[in-house]
Amino acid sequence: MMTEHTKVDHSMENIDALEATTPGPTVLEKSPPRSVKMASNKVECNACPVLCQISEGRTGACDRWGNVGGVLTRIDPVVVMRHPGVRPAVAGAAAPGLASNSTADDAAGHAAGELASVADVAGGNVSAGADDSSMFVSGIASGTTYPDYKPAPFIVASQVRGVDMVTVVTEGIFSYCSFKVKIDTDRYLGPEQSNIRHNGEIVGHVTTAEYGSQMLSLGGVHHLTGGSKKEGRVTCSMMLALGNKEAVELSIDGGAQLVVQAGKAPIVDGKEEQRMRVGCGSATIGIFAKQWFGHADEVVVVDDHITGVLTEHQAGRCLGMPPSGIKMKGRRSTPGRYFQVANPGNGWGGTDIADPLSIIDGFDPAVSHPGLRLLVTSTTGEHAEYYELDEELKPQRKEMPAVLHKVVERIGENCEPSLCSVMFLGGAGGSLRAGVTENPIWLTNSIKQSLTNVTCGGAPAYIWAGGGITLMVDVMRMPDVSFGYVPTPALVAPIEFSMTRADYERLGGHMDHVRTIEDILAKERHRIIDWYDPANPWPTASKPMLA
Ligand code: SF4
Repeated sequence: MMTEHTKVDHSMENIDALEATTPGPTVLEKSPPRSVKMASNKVECNACPVLCQISEGRTGACDRWGNVGGVLTRIDPVVVMRHPGVRPAVAGAAAPGLASNSTADDAAGHAAGELASVADVAGGNVSAGADDSSMFVSGIASGTTYPDYKPAPFIVASQVRGVDMVTVVTEGIFSYCSFKVKIDTDRYLGPEQSNIRHNGEIVGHVTTAEYGSQMLSLGGVHHLTGGSKKEGRVTCSMMLALGNKEAVELSIDGGAQLVVQAGKAPIVDGKEEQRMRVGCGSATIGIFAKQWFGHADEVVVVDDHITGVLTEHQAGRCLGMPPSGIKMKGRRSTPGRYFQVANPGNGWGGTDIADPLSIIDGFDPAVSHPGLRLLVTSTTGEHAEYYELDEELKPQRKEMPAVLHKVVERIGENCEPSLCSVMFLGGAGGSLRAGVTENPIWLTNSIKQSLTNVTCGGAPAYIWAGGGITLMVDVMRMPDVSFGYVPTPALVAPIEFSMTRADYERLGGHMDHVRTIEDILAKERHRIIDWYDPANPWPTASKPMLA
């Protein structure tokens, strides 16, 4: 979690006035003397515009950099990914110890704040000359620089299927970034455009719902830097937790209390959601009409969006079902499809109803008849009731016949588990590009032309059409704890640009900073993780890039 910091000697008064977007080398040289007086035992961190002055044995405001024996050092080792089955070949360089206040959690098992020796994290011996393509230096903990014109922390040469490749590795400092959160539920979370709060501060809003899911937009530049300091801090802290796959509590104005965590079921007003709806009421009718046919005279599928009525629906008509005479509340859209039968809520089918008969206005005596068999169900099958009409055409609740029960169960069986999906959306089209090339537009163009593959912590990034490099990545495809922050406030996220060496040279890359993986493994503190996810292509194996 992001914490308040008092251990930084640098004055933080002017942080809000500063901009942040910076890459940088793993270990920066001490900055030249500035006009600000600095004690001799301190180093100035120039990895971001905050420019912390850090005493020996301490860390800076973001806990990512520390003063180790007078040398500015990235606290966490850079994460190197290894395709499983291949052992790393080079023992890592020894790292100095540091009693820091870092709160970063070292996944290698070290206590928070303890600086591990590289021997710990490098993991021992490897076959020298291992296939380069089986090791990938990620942007996680690679470091950032300020100002931006410095080459990225790592520019790594490798070979993939005989082709010389280069991967430019950095951590981007993103002021322009947000999380788009998809919550698989038809429960009512709150009105569209409503503010979303975290610890009382506005950190986002409810945005356009999608099919079977509610959508939230969280974070973003206006909450990070456009409001009060507290709003910025709380927003940054919430984003950091969300990106690092932690649970985050949110409250929607005029709506629900939520607990959202990437890859987990949402908790809405204290209740863990189980199922995503199979479809809207009309779609559910379309899927299951034939299975109901002959066992019910009418089926109503309650849904906050479209409530379906079988005998009026095209599916019922195609099956030759006679009208039931049912009169529905709400606004009839097309035959058998009704909008607004009730208000949105946490009841049946994402409406506010607890009694399914409350959306039925009655039955037409000229059409209906006593004994008519009526099934009412929700779009998840979590709610379902069976009725038969009495002599006065009033529905009377009866035990549901087994054959109908089976179809209701099948609705549930067809529902996917309800999940929270968290997508990081960030703008990498700014000065970060200067760490890659002297002529940034060539990088932008090479990405658009699929000559450069963009990954975030090894996970594939979708690049939005149009100008800039607006990328989107699923945090579940990134390694755990991929994100950091700086107190400007802004989020720090790993980013890697992979391309052929020839293309890198053509786009004006920093060729004199290209290093081999072996050199990095030998000289830099690093942590190797096995990385193979069938959903993720290996970061340097993009086919268009090598075509
Ligand atoms: S906030 Fe972090 S990156 Fe920025 S100057 Fe301080 S220690 Fe360096």
